[in-house]
Amino acid sequence: MNNGDAAIVVRGLRKVYGDRAAVDGIDLEVGRGEVFALLGPNGAGKTTTVEILEGFRKRDGGEVTVLGADPATASRTESFRQRVGIVLQGTGEFDELTVGEVVRHFARFYSSPDDPGTVITRVGLRDKAGARTHTLSGGQKRRLDVALGIIGRPELLFLDEPTTGFDPEARREFWGLIKDLRSSGTTIVLTTHYLDEAEALADRVGVIAAGRLIAVDTPRLLGSRDEALATVSWRTPDGVWESAQSAAPTALITDLAARYGGEVPALTVTRPTLEDVYLEMIGAA
Ligand code: ATP
Repeated sequence: MNNGDAAIVVRGLRKVYGDRAAVDGIDLEVGRGEVFALLGPNGAGKTTTVEILEGFRKRDGGEVTVLGADPATASRTESFRQRVGIVLQGTGEFDELTVGEVVRHFARFYSSPDDPGTVITRVGLRDKAGARTHTLSGGQKRRLDVALGIIGRPELLFLDEPTTGFDPEARREFWGLIKDLRSSGTTIVLTTHYLDEAEALADRVGVIAAGRLIAVDTPRLLGSRDEALATVSWRTPDGVWESAQSAAPTALITDLAARYGGEVPALTVTRPTLEDVYLEMIGAA
């Protein structure tokens, strides 16, 4: 990636709490229009990293450029706030105000906001537009957080564990929203503990462990997933389930097809999932 195309450039980022480095020398680039997912176990340093990029936390070392500016100072400027959308971990409660009132209120902070009604519908809260925020369920509050993150039509959107507490249907709807935002050119950085979410949404994923970025790749290639042994499973004509690991599954299936005279009963071929390679990486780290 040419640096000029980068929405975010991080070099040697460090953050220390007491005598412990929470972020310990991270280098990272996120391209404009890219969806980048940060993965890592609890306490790995994801939120710290993201909050430094947002300008919410001070760094102790390294260089950070977000949309061409240093967030440590730029985050206090109006233009940075106009261009960057932020969804933090769990806010979503505004006492006696309704969903519609809160979203309309936040829209006024931006020079060219999206239409509040459209945004409320996009996050799946149309039926709750008139409901007071304290009556929303956990997942509905999270949707409201997302609405507030996108109401200003940001160029760059940060989402910290956006779908925690969503039911499966709401997560799929949310994924659709993120794909729409990506199609319209929004750069997105998200943290998540859901590997299927990273796989569905991210162009690239970065794995953080103990404050270090230990891998960055596309979900398909992370940890050389594509080259890992394949597991081929099938059922023999007398009903016995068989499975074999193979580096050459095509050859094995060709053999099986010859052995069974055509269709191999109940054939499946699987490779390690993103979760499998992620857990292996984290274990090794
Ligand atoms: P999670 O997945 O649980 O959200 P995370 O990867 O986002 O975790 P961080 O919140 O960045 O992790 O925390 C990284 C480390 O820094 C942890 O050990 C945490 O205890 C420590 N830490 C974070 N914030 C502070 C703080 N304000 N003061 C002291 N230590 C902190």
